[in-house]
Amino acid sequence: MELNRNFQRLAPSYLFSGVGRKVAAFAEKHPDVELTRLGIGDVTLPLASPVVQALHRAADEMARPETFRGYGPEQGYPFARRAVRDQYARRGVLVEEEEIFLSDGAKSDLGGWMDLFGPDNVARVPDPGYPVYGDISLMAGHPVRFVQGTRENGFLPGPDGQDGDIIYLCSPGNPTGAVYTRAQLTAWVEYALERGAVILFDAAYEAFIRDDTLPRSIFEIEGARHCAVEIGSLSKSAGFTGLRFGYTVVPRQLKCRGVRLRDLWLRRQSTKYNGVPYPVQRAAQAALSDAGRAACMQAVAYYRANAQTLRRALKGTGVFCCGGENSPYVWMQCPGGMDSWQFFDYLLERARIVGTPGAGFGPGGEGYFRLTGFGDKEATCAAAQRLRDAVLAAG
Ligand code: PLP
Repeated sequence: MELNRNFQRLAPSYLFSGVGRKVAAFAEKHPDVELTRLGIGDVTLPLASPVVQALHRAADEMARPETFRGYGPEQGYPFARRAVRDQYARRGVLVEEEEIFLSDGAKSDLGGWMDLFGPDNVARVPDPGYPVYGDISLMAGHPVRFVQGTRENGFLPGPDGQDGDIIYLCSPGNPTGAVYTRAQLTAWVEYALERGAVILFDAAYEAFIRDDTLPRSIFEIEGARHCAVEIGSLSKSAGFTGLRFGYTVVPRQLKCRGVRLRDLWLRRQSTKYNGVPYPVQRAAQAALSDAGRAACMQAVAYYRANAQTLRRALKGTGVFCCGGENSPYVWMQCPGGMDSWQFFDYLLERARIVGTPGAGFGPGGEGYFRLTGFGDKEATCAAAQRLRDAVLAAG
């Protein structure tokens, strides 16, 4: 028996264990001090009422012999796939029901795509970026090369002329909150078409975009149906982090050496996955209905307003920051020449704020810091003033 040696390629994940350890040590030393947690990447508001009602109804259906459901259709129930399709249609993007595959979330789908690609394909991973992209690529044996986000390119790196077969794009980005423009995404689509590369477009935060000139889907870009798949999630847009619902859209036109990737994905999913629970599909349908969307968007607006409060607090302090406008994340430069763990300690001690050190999102994240709007409004407002004071004091 031999283990998958690719696991040896993974760097140990110190980020959240490091944060947890430092916060626990602080709490032990200062038991009476209340911390504001602006490091969380999880939602905090409860599910919207139409979603909860749908869950109750579905649970009752499962309790009666005439409405009980067992295994569902492989790609998901038509009612739930239509709800996803209609969400796209409202924005003028046409996707077909047969191109939509429901799942338990974006992370599972991203990892699942690694099954479809040969190990020699080069993965291009945004740095800084969601650490999962690099790790799933390494586990599957791919060479991994960073696509460098910098302050100069607004943390929206474009094609850099280097080779790439699997291109991860995330817009709005985690951790940077930066959103690609139409022209910037067009450059990536042209690159992918020219090289025969496949773009894995992570749209987990699309609901946070409020600037209508910015694309919410890669399929708003001409040619994308020939080179991209899109992975969506209700985790952040409808508070489904604990309920679990995501989807992948695989266009019919997307082919690799004549093979339709949609067919391969169907084969992969129907072999390794048995579908989203029926009550969760009903809950997703409710979240995507008119009433559900209105309720969920209130939560999105609440988180985004928190992020904007943080962003405003940094205004005029002289530190670079981005995000917060169309995203729950604010990405800031560490003041006073501190590295990201030094700033973590400084902010914890001085302002009683817990954030996330940028180094955890790749080498390009060093010297930067992520704050999130997923916390409580009043606590975030109070923390924003302490943040500002601490940044100004750090010079
Ligand atoms: N993609 C990005 C960029 C994320 O930040 C996250 C979660 O934080 C995910 C995907 C995971 O989404 P899901 O909960 O649908 O698995």
